[in-house]
Amino acid sequence: MKLFDAHVHLQSYGSAAELDGALRAARDSGVERLLCCGISPDDWERVLAIAGQYESVVPCLGLHPWFAGTAPAGWLERLEGLLLHTNCCVGEIGLDGVKETPGQEEVFLRQLELAAKLRRPAVIHSVKSWKRTRKLLESARPPAFMLHAYGGAAELVKNFAALGGYFSYGGGIMDPKREKLRAALAAVPPERLVFETESPERGAPGPAGLGEVIAAAAKVLGRSAEELAGLSFRNAERFCGPHS
Ligand SMILES: [Zn+2]
Repeated sequence: MKLFDAHVHLQSYGSAAELDGALRAARDSGVERLLCCGISPDDWERVLAIAGQYESVVPCLGLHPWFAGTAPAGWLERLEGLLLHTNCCVGEIGLDGVKETPGQEEVFLRQLELAAKLRRPAVIHSVKSWKRTRKLLESARPPAFMLHAYGGAAELVKNFAALGGYFSYGGGIMDPKREKLRAALAAVPPERLVFETESPERGAPGPAGLGEVIAAAAKVLGRSAEELAGLSFRNAERFCGPHS
Protein backbone atom coordinates (compact mmCIF):
# COMPACT_ATOMS: atom_id res chain seq x y z
CA MET A 1 0.00 0.00 0.00
CA LYS A 2 1.41 3.42 -0.88
CA LEU A 3 0.07 6.43 0.96
CA PHE A 4 0.02 10.22 0.44
CA ASP A 5 -0.08 12.47 3.52
CA ALA A 6 -1.94 15.52 2.18
CA HIS A 7 -1.08 17.97 4.98
CA VAL A 8 2.07 18.23 7.08
CA HIS A 9 4.33 20.99 8.47
CA LEU A 10 7.68 19.20 8.39
CA GLN A 11 9.50 22.50 9.02
CA SER A 12 8.08 22.44 12.55
CA TYR A 13 10.03 19.38 13.70
CA GLY A 14 12.45 20.33 16.48
CA SER A 15 15.60 19.14 14.70
CA ALA A 16 16.88 17.68 11.45
CA ALA A 17 17.33 14.31 13.18
CA GLU A 18 13.74 14.31 14.41
CA LEU A 19 12.47 15.16 10.92
CA ASP A 20 14.63 12.45 9.38
CA GLY A 21 13.34 9.88 11.89
CA ALA A 22 9.72 10.83 11.21
CA LEU A 23 10.19 10.55 7.44
CA ARG A 24 11.99 7.23 7.79
CA ALA A 25 9.15 5.81 9.91
CA ALA A 26 6.65 7.23 7.42
CA ARG A 27 8.39 5.54 4.50
CA ASP A 28 8.51 2.23 6.40
CA SER A 29 4.74 2.45 6.87
CA GLY A 30 4.09 3.13 3.17
CA VAL A 31 3.92 6.95 3.08
CA GLU A 32 5.59 7.80 -0.22
CA ARG A 33 4.47 11.40 -0.66
CA LEU A 34 3.76 14.31 1.67
CA LEU A 35 2.36 17.77 0.96
CA CYS A 36 4.27 20.17 3.22
CA CYS A 37 2.72 23.59 3.87
CA GLY A 38 4.49 26.77 4.91
CA ILE A 39 2.57 29.20 7.09
CA SER A 40 4.51 32.48 6.97
CA PRO A 41 7.45 34.13 5.16
CA ASP A 42 9.62 32.91 8.06
CA ASP A 43 9.36 29.26 7.02
CA TRP A 44 9.07 29.33 3.21
CA GLU A 45 12.80 28.83 2.60
CA ARG A 46 12.85 25.95 5.07
CA VAL A 47 9.92 24.23 3.32
CA LEU A 48 11.72 24.56 -0.02
CA ALA A 49 14.96 23.22 1.50
CA ILE A 50 13.16 20.16 2.92
CA ALA A 51 11.49 19.51 -0.45
CA GLY A 52 14.91 19.80 -2.08
CA GLN A 53 16.37 17.29 0.34
CA TYR A 54 13.55 14.72 0.32
CA GLU A 55 12.10 13.64 -3.01
CA SER A 56 8.87 12.52 -1.31
CA VAL A 57 8.00 16.06 -0.19
CA VAL A 58 5.80 18.36 -2.30
CA PRO A 59 6.22 22.01 -1.23
CA CYS A 60 3.39 24.44 -0.64
CA LEU A 61 3.85 28.11 0.34
CA GLY A 62 1.42 30.58 1.82
CA LEU A 63 0.53 33.01 4.57
CA HIS A 64 -1.73 31.34 7.18
CA PRO A 65 -4.63 33.45 8.54
CA TRP A 66 -3.17 33.40 12.06
CA PHE A 67 -0.20 35.42 10.77
CA ALA A 68 -2.15 37.71 8.45
CA GLY A 69 -1.58 40.77 10.65
CA THR A 70 2.15 40.35 11.19
CA ALA A 71 3.63 39.60 7.75
CA PRO A 72 6.35 42.02 6.63
CA ALA A 73 5.66 44.46 3.79
CA GLY A 74 6.24 42.95 0.36
CA TRP A 75 5.31 39.40 1.45
CA LEU A 76 2.93 38.87 -1.48
CA GLU A 77 5.54 39.85 -4.09
CA ARG A 78 8.05 37.56 -2.41
CA LEU A 79 5.54 34.72 -2.45
CA GLU A 80 4.85 35.25 -6.14
CA GLY A 81 8.59 35.28 -6.88
CA LEU A 82 9.11 31.96 -5.07
CA LEU A 83 6.08 30.39 -6.76
CA LEU A 84 7.34 31.43 -10.19
CA HIS A 85 10.63 29.63 -9.59
CA THR A 86 9.04 26.42 -8.31
CA ASN A 87 5.98 24.28 -8.95
CA CYS A 88 4.62 24.82 -5.43
CA CYS A 89 1.00 24.78 -4.40
CA VAL A 90 -0.34 27.88 -2.58
CA GLY A 91 -1.02 27.34 1.14
CA GLU A 92 -1.68 27.09 3.90
CA ILE A 93 -4.08 29.99 3.46
CA GLY A 94 -7.62 30.64 4.64
CA LEU A 95 -9.97 32.09 7.21
CA ASP A 96 -10.34 31.41 10.91
CA GLY A 97 -13.54 32.58 12.57
CA VAL A 98 -12.31 31.49 16.00
CA LYS A 99 -8.89 33.13 15.83
CA GLU A 100 -9.70 36.40 14.07
CA THR A 101 -6.71 38.41 12.87
CA PRO A 102 -6.64 41.83 11.19
CA GLY A 103 -6.88 41.65 7.40
CA GLN A 104 -7.22 37.88 7.11
CA GLU A 105 -9.92 38.11 4.45
CA GLU A 106 -7.84 40.41 2.25
CA VAL A 107 -4.73 38.24 2.75
CA PHE A 108 -6.71 35.11 1.79
CA LEU A 109 -8.25 36.70 -1.30
CA ARG A 110 -4.91 38.03 -2.60
CA GLN A 111 -3.41 34.54 -2.35
CA LEU A 112 -6.42 32.88 -3.99
CA GLU A 113 -6.06 35.36 -6.86
CA LEU A 114 -2.37 34.52 -7.09
CA ALA A 115 -3.21 30.79 -7.21
CA ALA A 116 -5.72 31.48 -9.98
CA LYS A 117 -3.26 33.64 -11.95
CA LEU A 118 -0.42 31.08 -11.74
CA ARG A 119 -2.78 28.07 -12.12
CA ARG A 120 -1.71 26.54 -8.80
CA PRO A 121 -3.89 24.50 -6.44
CA ALA A 122 -4.59 26.08 -3.04
CA VAL A 123 -4.53 24.39 0.38
CA ILE A 124 -7.13 25.96 2.63
CA HIS A 125 -7.64 26.29 6.38
CA SER A 126 -11.26 27.20 7.09
CA VAL A 127 -12.65 27.31 10.62
CA LYS A 128 -16.18 28.58 11.31
CA SER A 129 -16.13 30.70 8.16
CA TRP A 130 -17.72 28.52 5.48
CA LYS A 131 -19.87 31.23 3.90
CA ARG A 132 -16.99 33.70 3.59
CA THR A 133 -14.66 30.98 2.34
CA ARG A 134 -17.13 30.04 -0.39
CA LYS A 135 -17.69 33.65 -1.41
CA LEU A 136 -13.97 34.29 -1.85
CA LEU A 137 -13.45 31.01 -3.73
CA GLU A 138 -16.28 31.93 -6.09
CA SER A 139 -14.68 35.30 -6.68
CA ALA A 140 -11.05 34.18 -7.24
CA ARG A 141 -11.59 30.67 -8.74
CA PRO A 142 -8.25 28.87 -8.20
CA PRO A 143 -7.93 25.82 -10.52
CA ALA A 144 -8.33 23.44 -7.55
CA PHE A 145 -8.36 23.71 -3.79
CA MET A 146 -8.20 21.42 -0.79
CA LEU A 147 -10.15 22.01 2.41
CA HIS A 148 -7.67 20.64 4.90
CA ALA A 149 -9.02 18.97 8.06
CA TYR A 150 -12.48 19.54 6.63
CA GLY A 151 -14.86 20.22 9.52
CA GLY A 152 -17.88 21.55 7.60
CA ALA A 153 -21.28 19.96 7.31
CA ALA A 154 -22.17 17.21 4.85
CA GLU A 155 -24.62 19.61 3.14
CA LEU A 156 -21.77 21.95 2.14
CA VAL A 157 -19.73 19.26 0.40
CA LYS A 158 -21.60 19.37 -2.90
CA ASN A 159 -21.10 23.10 -3.39
CA PHE A 160 -17.40 23.08 -2.58
CA ALA A 161 -16.88 20.02 -4.79
CA ALA A 162 -18.55 21.83 -7.70
CA LEU A 163 -16.08 24.72 -7.26
CA GLY A 164 -13.09 22.34 -7.55
CA GLY A 165 -12.75 21.29 -3.92
CA TYR A 166 -10.87 18.34 -2.47
CA PHE A 167 -11.56 17.30 1.13
CA SER A 168 -8.87 16.19 3.53
CA TYR A 169 -9.52 14.19 6.70
CA GLY A 170 -7.24 13.45 9.63
CA GLY A 171 -7.40 11.63 12.96
CA GLY A 172 -10.62 13.47 13.95
CA ILE A 173 -12.68 10.81 12.20
CA MET A 174 -11.54 8.33 14.87
CA ASP A 175 -13.08 10.43 17.67
CA PRO A 176 -16.24 8.59 18.86
CA LYS A 177 -17.96 11.95 19.53
CA ARG A 178 -17.54 13.30 16.00
CA GLU A 179 -20.48 11.66 14.27
CA LYS A 180 -21.08 14.74 12.06
CA LEU A 181 -17.53 14.60 10.76
CA ARG A 182 -18.03 11.00 9.65
CA ALA A 183 -21.36 11.91 8.02
CA ALA A 184 -19.59 14.60 5.98
CA LEU A 185 -16.82 12.15 5.06
CA ALA A 186 -19.44 9.82 3.60
CA ALA A 187 -20.79 12.69 1.47
CA VAL A 188 -17.46 13.46 -0.25
CA PRO A 189 -17.19 12.33 -3.90
CA PRO A 190 -14.58 9.50 -3.93
CA GLU A 191 -12.42 11.31 -6.50
CA ARG A 192 -12.05 14.31 -4.13
CA LEU A 193 -11.03 12.49 -0.96
CA VAL A 194 -7.55 12.76 0.61
CA PHE A 195 -6.06 12.09 4.06
CA GLU A 196 -3.60 13.85 6.35
CA THR A 197 -1.83 13.73 9.70
CA GLU A 198 -0.93 17.43 10.04
CA SER A 199 2.38 16.31 11.56
CA PRO A 200 4.06 17.13 13.81
CA GLU A 201 1.14 16.94 16.22
CA ARG A 202 1.94 16.60 19.91
CA GLY A 203 1.69 12.99 21.08
CA ALA A 204 0.76 11.70 17.60
CA PRO A 205 2.75 9.12 15.61
CA GLY A 206 3.66 11.52 12.76
CA PRO A 207 3.05 10.74 9.08
CA ALA A 208 3.56 7.06 9.95
CA GLY A 209 0.09 7.21 11.54
CA LEU A 210 -1.62 7.89 8.21
CA GLY A 211 -2.46 4.22 7.61
CA GLU A 212 -4.51 4.20 10.81
CA VAL A 213 -6.55 7.24 9.63
CA ILE A 214 -7.22 5.58 6.26
CA ALA A 215 -8.23 2.32 7.95
CA ALA A 216 -10.73 4.22 10.12
CA ALA A 217 -12.15 6.02 7.06
CA ALA A 218 -12.40 2.70 5.21
CA LYS A 219 -14.59 1.37 8.02
CA VAL A 220 -16.88 4.44 7.83
CA LEU A 221 -17.19 4.12 4.06
CA GLY A 222 -17.47 0.34 3.90
CA ARG A 223 -14.48 0.03 1.54
CA SER A 224 -11.18 -1.75 1.95
CA ALA A 225 -8.24 0.25 3.31
CA GLU A 226 -6.15 -0.79 0.28
CA GLU A 227 -8.74 0.57 -2.11
CA LEU A 228 -9.06 3.83 -0.17
CA ALA A 229 -5.28 4.24 0.06
CA GLY A 230 -4.94 3.85 -3.72
CA LEU A 231 -7.83 6.15 -4.45
CA SER A 232 -6.65 8.92 -2.12
CA PHE A 233 -3.07 8.62 -3.40
CA ARG A 234 -4.22 9.17 -6.99
CA ASN A 235 -6.44 12.08 -5.86
CA ALA A 236 -3.57 13.83 -4.06
CA GLU A 237 -1.25 13.31 -7.05
CA ARG A 238 -3.85 14.82 -9.37
CA PHE A 239 -4.37 17.73 -6.98
CA CYS A 240 -0.65 18.53 -6.80
CA GLY A 241 -0.11 18.04 -10.52
CA PRO A 242 -0.27 20.66 -13.25
CA HIS A 243 -3.55 22.56 -13.72
CA SER A 244 -4.13 24.24 -17.06
ZN1 LIG B 1 -1.80 23.06 8.78
